[in-house]
Amino acid sequence: MNVPFTDLAIQYKMIKPEIDKAISEVFDSGYFIGGKPVKEFEHDFATLCKIKNCVAIGNGTDGLFLSLKALGIGSGDEVITPAWSWISTSEVITLAGAKPVFADVDLDYFTITEEHIKSKITSRTKAVIVVHLYGQVADMNSIKSLCDRANLFLIEDCSQAHLSSQSGLIAGTTSDCGVFSFYPTKNLGAFGDAGCVITNQDLLAEKIRRFANHGGLSKDDHLIEGFNSRMDTIQAAILNVKLKYIKDWNAKRIENAQLYFENLAAIESLSLPKLRNKVVHTFHQFVIRVEQRDELKFFLESKGVQTLIHYPNALPYEPAYNYLSHSLNDFPVSALLQNTVLSLPVSPEISQEQILYVCHMIKSFYDE
Ligand SMILES: *Cc1c(COP(=O)(O)O)cnc(C)c1O
Repeated sequence: MNVPFTDLAIQYKMIKPEIDKAISEVFDSGYFIGGKPVKEFEHDFATLCKIKNCVAIGNGTDGLFLSLKALGIGSGDEVITPAWSWISTSEVITLAGAKPVFADVDLDYFTITEEHIKSKITSRTKAVIVVHLYGQVADMNSIKSLCDRANLFLIEDCSQAHLSSQSGLIAGTTSDCGVFSFYPTKNLGAFGDAGCVITNQDLLAEKIRRFANHGGLSKDDHLIEGFNSRMDTIQAAILNVKLKYIKDWNAKRIENAQLYFENLAAIESLSLPKLRNKVVHTFHQFVIRVEQRDELKFFLESKGVQTLIHYPNALPYEPAYNYLSHSLNDFPVSALLQNTVLSLPVSPEISQEQILYVCHMIKSFYDE
């Protein structure tokens, strides 16, 4: 049996008539930047997240950058960000002219905690970027109250956590702003690059909107200098169709994850993902930890099962950060994770039969 990691063509086939209609309506309208589909997306996504403002932009990385700019972060400032994440969350800090300060993460939940952040605060620290990695939210209660006490801005990177929550609080709604990517393989994905920032602060939303559109809210309005990061009308039209399915698709991921939990629990050599109290984990990735990671990956590949590694290197150990001269002892958890994590196929297009096959193959790896 073949089990691809994801298959977006299957997802497209399921909703093809609706998507094709939405796209051809954009073509027929002759408007390709902004317009009604973008407004509709901003309104509907904000409603879904139970928040006041949503600003549609070009991609998730821009969303993080725009947030830092709008919060006034720049030269001389430090921003604390996880050592274990996708590089967007550190490169945007440098791009804004500030200094990325890495913090290690919690072994069980793959996210930074109040303690990790606290150990990195200096007189120059201005903000913290929290990443809700793999689909589970970090402990926002303790992190938010630390940031309030220390007078730090707080940005949530929700690129892997669309509609994830803890105690009913949706990712992206308990900080200054939440940033989303709609890269095609995310839980909610466009047919190209797209992103957004959500916030309850009207002024912050307006600043981000201006920065993303040459400093203006309309044409020939240049109150400040900005740059260009707008969501294409076509991407908004596609996302408007997909928004109707996001809850079902998240539910299917959770079902697939449940099958893994049931069928892999008995294998002692595997560490399965742990769930926080009262969370809705939306399983953007189902990440296990194993000693013989590379051997298992190779074995599964030979049986037709595609797995991925998120991520092969913790950020401080990427060549881009050689200049910070970090050692493996600086981030012991991240250093361990880069050698042991393995992401199993969990996306909604993967059938239960395929998941059970993956489980069976993992068992046979340990029986051999
Ligand atoms: C995907 C992703 C991003 C970047 O989003 P783009 O839309 O590709 O720019 C940022 N942070 C995390 C954690 C991501 O997974």
